Amino acid sequence: MKIVSDMLVPARAPYSATLKQGQVMKIIDLESQQAVDALFYNAHDLSERYSVQDTLAAQAVQGGKFFLETGSVLLSNEGNALVRIIADTCGFHDSCAGACSCESNSVRFGHETRFMHACRENFLTEIAKYGLGKRDLVSNVNFFMNVPIRPDGELTVDDGVSKPGGYVELRAEMDVLVLISNCPQVNNPCNGFRPTPIRIIISES
Ligand SMILES: [Zn+2]
Repeated sequence: MKIVSDMLVPARAPYSATLKQGQVMKIIDLESQQAVDALFYNAHDLSERYSVQDTLAAQAVQGGKFFLETGSVLLSNEGNALVRIIADTCGFHDSCAGACSCESNSVRFGHETRFMHACRENFLTEIAKYGLGKRDLVSNVNFFMNVPIRPDGELTVDDGVSKPGGYVELRAEMDVLVLISNCPQVNNPCNGFRPTPIRIIISES
């Protein structure tokens, strides 16, 4: 196994990288309970991107799970495999709750939170490097984020369950652009109310 890249992503910061098909990205939750928001695009055609609808519909056929775990294949809006989760210590990764934004913070937590840093701002900053903008921000994955759906259908953001050093490994099934926001949210428990750094290692066989 050869290490291609090994980066520490500070708390609240964005990150991006292009994976070649077959390369593996390991995202490590260094201090525990850190939500990591992620978007995925076909590196050669950025109009093909991650689709939560296609991904969860395909999983539903196989057993009905609404979250992502080892074995989950993240599909594009054209039904192609972008990445596959090949290892995971958490057992639960959300893809229903979306990314935090100044607008949603304002609605959910009060107008005084309107100017707090949010994942959407991280994504917009990072996506500009690739010539993309607001219209290209689509459904995302929230690695390590605990979003149970209650029997009555209510969706909540609960305390994170990932432990210090917990990780998830993604294998690229095509050449894929990965955009990440190390979530800065402090108004709900998705980061244990304390955003922390993550480590991202890219390797190849
Ligand atoms: Zn966030």
